[in-house]
Amino acid sequence: MRLHDPLEYWARRRPELRVATGPDGVSYGEASAVTSAWAVRFGELGLRPGDRLALASANHPDAVLTLLAASKAGLVTVPLNPRLRAEDYAGFLRDSDARAVVGSPSRAEALEEAAEGLDLPLLLIGGERPGWQALRGWPRDTEAALPVAAEPIALQSYTSGTTGRPKAALLTHDGFVPVSVRWSQAGMRFEPGEVFYLPLPIMLMAGIMMVQHALWCGAAVELDEFSPERALAAVRRPGVAGATFVPTMIHMMLEAAPDTPPSDAGLRWILYGGAPVSPSLVGRTRDAFGAKLFQSYGCTEASAMTLLTPEDHDRALGGAEHLLGSVGRAALDCEIALLDAEDRPVAVGEIGEICSRGTHVFQGYAGDPDRTAQALRAGWYRTGDLGSVDADGYLYLHGRKDHMITSGGINVHPEEIERVIGEIPGIAQVAVVGVPDERWGRRIVAAVVATPGSTVGEQLVVDRCRATLAAYKVPREVVFLDALPLNATGKILKHVVREQLAATAVAAP
Ligand code: AMP
Repeated sequence: MRLHDPLEYWARRRPELRVATGPDGVSYGEASAVTSAWAVRFGELGLRPGDRLALASANHPDAVLTLLAASKAGLVTVPLNPRLRAEDYAGFLRDSDARAVVGSPSRAEALEEAAEGLDLPLLLIGGERPGWQALRGWPRDTEAALPVAAEPIALQSYTSGTTGRPKAALLTHDGFVPVSVRWSQAGMRFEPGEVFYLPLPIMLMAGIMMVQHALWCGAAVELDEFSPERALAAVRRPGVAGATFVPTMIHMMLEAAPDTPPSDAGLRWILYGGAPVSPSLVGRTRDAFGAKLFQSYGCTEASAMTLLTPEDHDRALGGAEHLLGSVGRAALDCEIALLDAEDRPVAVGEIGEICSRGTHVFQGYAGDPDRTAQALRAGWYRTGDLGSVDADGYLYLHGRKDHMITSGGINVHPEEIERVIGEIPGIAQVAVVGVPDERWGRRIVAAVVATPGSTVGEQLVVDRCRATLAAYKVPREVVFLDALPLNATGKILKHVVREQLAATAVAAP
């Protein structure tokens, strides 16, 4: 199975169906012809199977077509986050040894700067620009044969990371199959012709995975740049059957329209995940959108591993509230184990490192045998996430191994504290970190962002923590900030928060 196989399947059966919506949208039939022509053209530019093709694009249908054309040509796409700076791109182009760059107009300047001196073909999505070849300007039909491609790697994906230097995860074509199998089996499907709304950056693994799933079903993708208003309008549009958000996006949508009644336009399901979510947000989401909810836990290196199904959400909202703190149970054909520092399975309820194995697991980090060996040990992929499993098999996350705070010699999981603070009305975001401290080793500090107009103060936060948590877990300090640093998926960059707070702490008398 290769990334473009679902495209070809539907192009043969239902060529008239749209694969992408909007003014630049195309049908499966057109997309099949265009991607074949582009694949041949990549070959004419000198790209050979296994070569790296850098792709830094905003959410545009041609980003999908580029991925599929690269797949046909046997190229390994290097998706680059569209929010990066020129110097980041320069590092990735060199690190991946990219042979051509595809970009959208908003990224063109940064990419030009990054590619300076590298003599790479520059290929533009959706527009025209001197020095760039416009992909849409390439001839659409071609007599030449497609290259014979036997490259198992589909993507070299730099992990978005919340802890430091990015790693280049090598992901196979075959690794995408189990995701669609799992989601279809759990009922997260589309009928051919239905629309999938995606406001996540398609350059991130979650975006590509979801697009692949939509193609697998013969659906059309509606790629968008997120704003609460646009997303609210989209999920109420007839034909839009499914959507994916990260929790921050849902929060913003509910803030923008807190009292809108559910739409009966046809939205059947919402998949959320990627970051911790508060139970109250889950309840509000179901009430507001009237759609089935799925949550998944996954990462770049091991795609989607668990599912909290609509039935789980029903049980949770019907009284088994603890389930809302869970990311669900292992998905079909996905082995998950919780291992201790000596690679032994931990007991039910105990905390261990979440490890997984199966076809969904990546092949290693490009050019980085050390970190590959650390991550892929004894047949398991070590996620770096801490978790526990209850007697029914539900997985609970306890944060990243490297986010754990050792304060006064005791390990504290910041996520537990964040859950308590995140439930306080008037708190929009929270990050709990350990700041260097002479007495405690690490002092627990909560960085919070209040919602506009909120009157929540430090004392209330501390009181709430005291009422719910053991004394040693109560933050020593609560710092109110205007915003928290986020990565492109909306995840809080904890190491940046920690550095910021440590810097202010040192500066303070
Ligand atoms: P990335 O590789 O950038 O996709 O980040 C993956 C990380 O996001 C995981 O290792 C988790 O720490 C976090 N994550 C993924 N899914 C969830 C979820 N459903 N709830 C909470 N955190 C999640």
